[in-house]
Amino acid sequence: TVSVVLFTSDLRLHDQPALRAALDATDAVVPLFVRDDAVAEAGFTAPNRAAFLADCLTDLDRSLRERGGRLVVRSGDLVEEVCRVATEADADEVHLAEGVSAFARRREERLRAALEAGGRRLFVHEGVTTAVAPGAVTPASSDHFAVFTPYFRKWSGQHPRRPLGAPRAVRVPDGVGSEEIPARREVRGASAGLAAGGESEGRDRFTAWLRRDAGAYEDQHDDLAGDATSRLSAHLHFGTLSPAELVHRAGRKEGPGPAAFVRQLCWRDFHHQVLAARPDASHADYRPREDRWRTGRDAARETDAWREGRTGYPIVDAAMRQLAHEGWMHNRGRLLTASFLTKTLYVDWRTGADHFLSLLVDGDIANNQMNWQWVAGTGTDTRPHRVLNPVRQAHRHDPDGAYVRRWVPELAGVEGRAVHEPWKLTGPGRAAADYPEPLVDLAEGLARFRQARGRE
Ligand code: FAD
Repeated sequence: TVSVVLFTSDLRLHDQPALRAALDATDAVVPLFVRDDAVAEAGFTAPNRAAFLADCLTDLDRSLRERGGRLVVRSGDLVEEVCRVATEADADEVHLAEGVSAFARRREERLRAALEAGGRRLFVHEGVTTAVAPGAVTPASSDHFAVFTPYFRKWSGQHPRRPLGAPRAVRVPDGVGSEEIPARREVRGASAGLAAGGESEGRDRFTAWLRRDAGAYEDQHDDLAGDATSRLSAHLHFGTLSPAELVHRAGRKEGPGPAAFVRQLCWRDFHHQVLAARPDASHADYRPREDRWRTGRDAARETDAWREGRTGYPIVDAAMRQLAHEGWMHNRGRLLTASFLTKTLYVDWRTGADHFLSLLVDGDIANNQMNWQWVAGTGTDTRPHRVLNPVRQAHRHDPDGAYVRRWVPELAGVEGRAVHEPWKLTGPGRAAADYPEPLVDLAEGLARFRQARGRE
């Protein structure tokens, strides 16, 4: 007997319930990945994610080959391709991880109907994409939590299942053809400093980070120059690491550092359960406000300056340039650049979210859109009118200015915290810096925001 294991956002062999169930149930399996046309048609592919995905598929194929198997890659309509492969392999059943997005769930239903029409069965495995499945914990009066802290309390009471090990052997039947797996170097337009993808890379990174850096995470995760966070977000997005396994392994370590890391993983589940219950929040305000975001020529010019890292606020520009160069930005940078766009420039959060999605290697609809909404005050923040002052943020989270000097070479010669306010420099230092004047006055931006939100 043969089964098909469809890999989607779970490009790993460790803690892989779909693969485990298929291996237990049948003599041979076809490990399949379909490059779904619908994902490209939805405009969700970006060079950085395509390059990272190429690494993930290459690594998955290598790991399967070490176990006697291989990865089958196809392109087209996912449902049609799965049915075609099931026919070619004469498979009776298909296994996959439960999708948590509305897109994945619609696709799953189509797949179920198509397979059942052909006399085949679909098995869907839960708790793969998130540590706790959306809807698994709910408040008494609603289908999802709208506030993080009570969610975290309930979530912490759930014990994620024990992670599964990787299988020792995988037998793949002959006669099922595969496309060539794309090489990362063939992807055009990826950021120069993009990190490597793949399960092996993700596991090595996590193990090293947990041993060396997790202890200091609570104190240092907001230090921009220290770069002390795990940088595992893209691995979580592509599922090269299992969130349940991360919670399990970090949860076994003592101390506030690993505990703070587990709390961040809960944020990921939190946003997923919000979007699963409110799929419209990917584009519509979760809590509608009367905002009339700025449009027109000035707003467009200022938004371009924001995208290009030329706002004249060094901390904002440093973070935007990190995003362009690495396809990744530190969380503190994401918070303050998003606040700057939505609250200081008063530009629609969707404009910022689109730009982030065009570059972020971890670009994820639930995490990106819900975090943008959180910052813009249209989402789940319980203090929606707070505004982050970029200069104060800079002094707090880049006290010595090292992060700015790393990313804004025009200011590399300015020592210490003076780098955060180049408009105050005088004499040759200012002339040598060749750096733009601030795009807007912070006090004016704040007044405009407060007036627009009716909170003067
Ligand atoms: P760590 O600090 O090491 O945290 C560990 C993991 O916890 C992360 O990998 C991530 O999976 C999760 N996590 C941490 N913070 C958050 C959070 N606020 N929300 C959800 N999950 C979190 N994260 C994405 O994965 N994809 C996105 O598209 C994305 N867009 C964002 C947009 C904005 C405007 C903001 C403010 C945040 C966004 N985040 C996004 C959340 C967060 O910034 C990143 O997950 C984090 O910076 C990734 O770095 P790390 O892996 O080193 O994080």
